[in-house]
Amino acid sequence: ILQVKNLHKSYQGQEVLRGVEFDIRKGQVKAVLGPSGSGKSTMLRLMALLEPADDGSIQLRGETIGTKLQHGRTVHLPERLLARQRQEIGMVFQKFNLFPHLSAVRNVMLGMTSVKGISHHAAREQAMEMLNRVGLDHRAEHYPSELSGGQQQRVAIARALVLNPSVMLFDEPTSALDPELVGEVLDVMEKLAADGMTMIVVTHETRFASRVASEVSLFDGGVIIEQAAPDQFFNNPQHERTRKFLSHVH
Ligand code: ATP
Ligand code: MG
Repeated sequence: ILQVKNLHKSYQGQEVLRGVEFDIRKGQVKAVLGPSGSGKSTMLRLMALLEPADDGSIQLRGETIGTKLQHGRTVHLPERLLARQRQEIGMVFQKFNLFPHLSAVRNVMLGMTSVKGISHHAAREQAMEMLNRVGLDHRAEHYPSELSGGQQQRVAIARALVLNPSVMLFDEPTSALDPELVGEVLDVMEKLAADGMTMIVVTHETRFASRVASEVSLFDGGVIIEQAAPDQFFNNPQHERTRKFLSHVH
């Protein structure tokens, strides 16, 4: 469903992504592990079309999204087209980024009413349905400050899901949480995966990766070093770099 080819990105002359390549098929869950500063968040931001790539391409169902190569030059697609393409990609960040002055249900509704032009009434109904799905319909009228970190992150997941994306990207969705709240967020993600959502999850949760992912990747130095099925990745990694990384996290 999604193909990333030769993705490059530099900041102030420093190359952060150096030719990222991978495919993900519909319904697959890809877990991405890798050291701090290796470019994982940058890769997700580019895929969510929050920033343009310098080179390379991202294709969703065969359609090029974000930037396009024309006559050997990278061309940024018009904003109106980008806005439509962005709706296909849901993103959940480490920090939940909810609007503090809006209740949970209002946070979930916002994208529907502002981006999709759905009526207030219909948006509220869909938002409640989605909050129910993440187990938070009873907290719908609470403000973010009245919710635990795990609950806020589940609201953020509902907010992304309600726009009906084809792919969901997660950037270390549990790293900002107290340990006892990690499980409730991973449970929601696992259920989502079981329901057939296509997902890319940057995470340090190796147990989650081995249980839920169809494929695990090691990302380092702006490229994917190794990708394999979880069993192979964790028990019989092919690259020295992967073995070294795993010896630090286990
Ligand atoms: P972490 O595990 O700590 O989240 P990461 O793998 O997500 O790390 P990135 O956040 O993608 O890494 O950052 C990769 C490199 O790119 C870092 O050296 C960072 O300083 C640099 N970088 C990221 N975004 C920007 C930016 N907007 N401007 C300048 N440099 C940036
Ligand atoms: Mg990051």
